[in-house]
Amino acid sequence: MNIVYTDNNATTRVAPEVLEEMLPYLSEYYGNPSSMHSFGGNVGRKITEARAKVADLINADPDEIVFTSCGTESDNAAIHAALEVNPQKRHIITSNVEHPAVKNTLERLQKKGYTVTFAPVDTGGRLDTDLVYKNMSEDTALVTLMWANNETGVIFPIKEVAKKANERGIIFHTDAVQAVGKIPIDVKDSGVDMLSLSGHKIHAPKGVAALYVKKGLKFSSFMTGGHQEKGRRGGTENTASIIGLGKACELAKGHFWEMDKRVRQMRDYLERQLLEKIPSSSINGEIKNRLPNTLSIGFDAVEGESILLLMDQAGICASSGSACTSGSLDPSHVLMAMKVPFESAHGTIRFSLSIYNTLEEMDHIVTVLPQVIKRLRDMSPFWKNQN
Ligand code: PLP
Repeated sequence: MNIVYTDNNATTRVAPEVLEEMLPYLSEYYGNPSSMHSFGGNVGRKITEARAKVADLINADPDEIVFTSCGTESDNAAIHAALEVNPQKRHIITSNVEHPAVKNTLERLQKKGYTVTFAPVDTGGRLDTDLVYKNMSEDTALVTLMWANNETGVIFPIKEVAKKANERGIIFHTDAVQAVGKIPIDVKDSGVDMLSLSGHKIHAPKGVAALYVKKGLKFSSFMTGGHQEKGRRGGTENTASIIGLGKACELAKGHFWEMDKRVRQMRDYLERQLLEKIPSSSINGEIKNRLPNTLSIGFDAVEGESILLLMDQAGICASSGSACTSGSLDPSHVLMAMKVPFESAHGTIRFSLSIYNTLEEMDHIVTVLPQVIKRLRDMSPFWKNQN
């Protein structure tokens, strides 16, 4: 059975070109980039090339890129740095729909005595920016906001909030793990101080990521150790994966058009067809201001997990809208923050596409899913009572 993979916000396949670029650095060229000999030095040069490619994707300077092990580490490193360089400041502003990499880190800091403002979103997933601005104070060390939401794809007004933070002398970090590679990002134009991105969301392998740190920003390393990454992140570099990340960024830069046109059209087609064919279905999140690849759609009176299981039997991979990572079947904190009605949040499925998807695959989903929902609803006393 062919797999229809529409769970690209969870992780992506490694692009064949990326793998090809990496393989020699997992076999013949195993030198340590910090070594004095040319065998290691050649690997170091490849890392320099990769750094330039990552920087180019977001319009940064190569020196502003720090390689890390994952998006979660980049987020932690940014938060840690902002607090370390401002020890007198004890307040952080964020949103209530952040990824656990930020949310759980800040909740832990709350327990350590920091004050955290979790700005709400409306039913479309739009940020209450006024509340963010009102809460900026002399005591605020950091504003950290995601560029785009991993569940709904809704995009936050990063440039606007970064500007206000800059005016108040507050460090601004963005978790752009879901946005990078899907929409063009320009760190200079947006005015962010730090930005997280992650390799496995853009067809590089898992276990490699980067943090952009604006030139001149005071920084304190999260991972202390050797002098790697100019002292900003200790630890011998994950050389092959960093080289893969460089290649993935180069490819992503050439794929923006395809993302914006073909992938968006496929997503919109899938969305239209599902809304048309499945009664009592609705989209979660602002329709206009979303990543081009993401569709979060709720089906009343069915369980997301049951939908996933039946779709899995038809070879379709997607995600549900539950907080399943925490072992609970409650709707995710994102859907709850958006006040999505319980019966629809429970039956929410996230489809996230990539350039490797095809229209035929969308047609397969459009054929399978209405039958799946009908089958589940036929078994649901709640649905029968209502209809
Ligand atoms: N931030 C966002 C918005 C994400 O979607 C993810 C992963 O899903 C992360 C951070 C964490 O990235 P990683 O899996 O590389 O640690």
